[in-house]
Amino acid sequence: MSLNAAYRKALDGASLSDADIRFLVALPDDRVPELMRLAHLLRLARFGDRVELCAIINARSGGCTEDCAFCAQSIRSAADGPRHGLLPAGEITEAARVAGAHGATRFGIVASGKDVNERDFRGFAAAVEGVAGLGLAPDLSPGILDRAQLQALKKAGLAGYHHNLETSASFFPSICTTHSYEEDVRAVRAGLKAGLRVCSGGIFGLGEGWDDRVEMALLLASLGVDSVPVNFLQPIPGTPLAGRRVLAPTEALKIIGLYRFLLPDAAIRLCGGRLPVFGPDGGRDLLVSGVSGLMVGDYLTVRGRDVDRDIADIRAAGLRPASFAVDN
Ligand code: SF4
Repeated sequence: MSLNAAYRKALDGASLSDADIRFLVALPDDRVPELMRLAHLLRLARFGDRVELCAIINARSGGCTEDCAFCAQSIRSAADGPRHGLLPAGEITEAARVAGAHGATRFGIVASGKDVNERDFRGFAAAVEGVAGLGLAPDLSPGILDRAQLQALKKAGLAGYHHNLETSASFFPSICTTHSYEEDVRAVRAGLKAGLRVCSGGIFGLGEGWDDRVEMALLLASLGVDSVPVNFLQPIPGTPLAGRRVLAPTEALKIIGLYRFLLPDAAIRLCGGRLPVFGPDGGRDLLVSGVSGLMVGDYLTVRGRDVDRDIADIRAAGLRPASFAVDN
């Protein structure tokens, strides 16, 4: 058993055995740089030197009746944060225009809540049409929609349906009790059946173990998800997980490396929690750790990093933002 052997398998598209996975999980911290190096090579082999940038807008904020323990938008959270209904389509489209001018190629319209009423559904369709009209790929994170609804949005120009599984099926009841994991898996399947790119991943540092991390990665692979957001918990005061410690950078990098080996063909996008884990200047290591995309700008309820600094780091790492011309 060796890291190189696991790398060769992942590169050749062969599944890793249980023993390979156990070997990766047991890698000591001092071998994480080696894991990162090989994960980065896997990413270069599959995606070249492009880094896809996506930005999001908090299009409907707060007041969610679900009880996800990490989330400031849950009605059970005492966290401060914006509370508003769905923004007008024109406002969402204008935010997408600004994000596109800063290099984003995908624009995610993110709404709190699990269910979607008729009025908001029409609002999503109008916003999707507006963003698509700018030449950006509109992604939507609306909660749970069925296949017919997703197909209707696809006709309006929707490129991607975003619905995170958050963690493993085994650990999910410790994080959310108001809906079942199976509902989330069904939503992911509905998106795939509607012919959309489904972006589905999770949050790490919730208290889950390595078995949970592996379980979720293998489920995503078996579902055929090829875009996986990786978030790290940023404990928010007022939420049930406010007291959890932030993951150490080495553990976070090992998670990214593991996901690259288990999902060699999937875009792995680093999203929330980047700043608390890596600090404002810690961006370069993670760019050569296996990720192929970054969420840029602000997150749902917390501020992000300056986009121009991210782009400078991408170039310093010998990579290119995907939205820029080859000679730019
Ligand atoms: S993660 Fe989504 S479903 Fe869960 S509480 Fe937050 S807004 Fe609601």
